[in-house]
Amino acid sequence: MNEQVEDPEKVRTPEGRSRTVAEPGLCRDCGAPVPPRRQRCRECGSRRVTRHAELNSLSIAHIDCDAFYASVEKRDNPALADLPVIVGGGQRGVVAACCYVARLYGVRSAMPMFKAMALCPHAVVLPPDMKKYQAVGRQVRATMLELTPLVQPLSIDEAFLDLTGTGESLGLSPARSLILLVRRLETEIGITASIGLSYNKFLAKVASDLDKPRGFKAIGRAEALDFLGPRPVGLIWGVGAALQSKLEHDGITTIAELRDRDEIWLMKRYGVMGRRLYRFARGEDLRTVDPDEETKSISAETTFSRDISDLGDLRNRLWPLCETVARRMKAAGLLGGSVVLKLKTGDFRLVTRSRRVGAPTQEPDAVFEAVMPLLEREASGVAYRLIGVGCADLTPLDRSATPDLLAPELLLAPRGDPPAEPAPDVPVPATVPDPQRSFVTSGNPSPMLPGFERLYRRKRRK
Ligand SMILES: [Mg+2]
Repeated sequence: MNEQVEDPEKVRTPEGRSRTVAEPGLCRDCGAPVPPRRQRCRECGSRRVTRHAELNSLSIAHIDCDAFYASVEKRDNPALADLPVIVGGGQRGVVAACCYVARLYGVRSAMPMFKAMALCPHAVVLPPDMKKYQAVGRQVRATMLELTPLVQPLSIDEAFLDLTGTGESLGLSPARSLILLVRRLETEIGITASIGLSYNKFLAKVASDLDKPRGFKAIGRAEALDFLGPRPVGLIWGVGAALQSKLEHDGITTIAELRDRDEIWLMKRYGVMGRRLYRFARGEDLRTVDPDEETKSISAETTFSRDISDLGDLRNRLWPLCETVARRMKAAGLLGGSVVLKLKTGDFRLVTRSRRVGAPTQEPDAVFEAVMPLLEREASGVAYRLIGVGCADLTPLDRSATPDLLAPELLLAPRGDPPAEPAPDVPVPATVPDPQRSFVTSGNPSPMLPGFERLYRRKRRK
């Protein structure tokens, strides 16, 4: 085959001279190694070749399915393949997911539906089918787990994988294993995903977003500082709109500017977050990929079709949310030590209030009773467009109190029904960019998983 020779890679040596290096390369279609200076894979002829100097040494990955809900819908109805598809609903609901065709029109996740429809009036709008997405999400998870037990799910369609040391056991580099994994997701499940590969979680997550869809992007140690420098501080984990504007007020908009401040100053100014800012700005992230990382909160929320200011009306909308949260808490085998009320005003101002509960609970009425005084205080005639309730300070249910939960056949059964969800008002992630995280705000997206798995493991250890 007549192969074109690509431009050799030029790098600068510490002395400032230009030098060519042969960066290892892999075919993104079949995973075969591609020798230096080749543009095509010798095995399959694909031109999708990835090269990176540290390709063989990076082992922390973030895998994120592309436009997950919309991809599942397209998979199940090929007639939709070339059409703009939006999964979402309700008059004033938001976009839960949109395909890449819809994105060409400017449609984005978490965008209000009316805005999305104005941008792309001919879009096919489908109501979310959570049961179906959960089932596909479980298949994706199972495929990942065949590669390594160190899978930390972030939501229904994304996870961190730690492939450190798998090279020897699998006989493949982590990069190659990941390419083959994503290929399996395409051929066996019928959806596409993007890979971010780096030496820590922060950068792996950033990387997976750089080359979507069907992406593969590596960020190595040698380039991390240069890569991060010009990027906005909002790229850093945990820097939301509020902190971003505080930083901006202090004259810090890029990560490079963050690096000009010393750690003490940052900690005095931003507390614990200051230390994180200091480290992340330097591409340092010590968090490990933890399959057991606990769910931090479980919540549910709803956007109204018309703003509501009346306390009685708000109260009526609050109750079903408490029931939903309680159901999810029970599914996860967790008790909540505090409750959180979330309100969004008609002009999109976010109000969150929380309080501890007397005794940790997973009962809907206890959640309701704890959160009502918070609502009473906030419902002073202000018109709200959204209400949400959550439980935080979660602890596993005492296992002595629930012997039935320990039956292995129960634990190994499919992970239960996804929460019965959305009807006219789709529960929305109004402030979280990724709507797929709406019901478990951190940690494991399967509400059944965290508590059950811990209980199961404890039992096995006995
Ligand atoms: Mg995704």
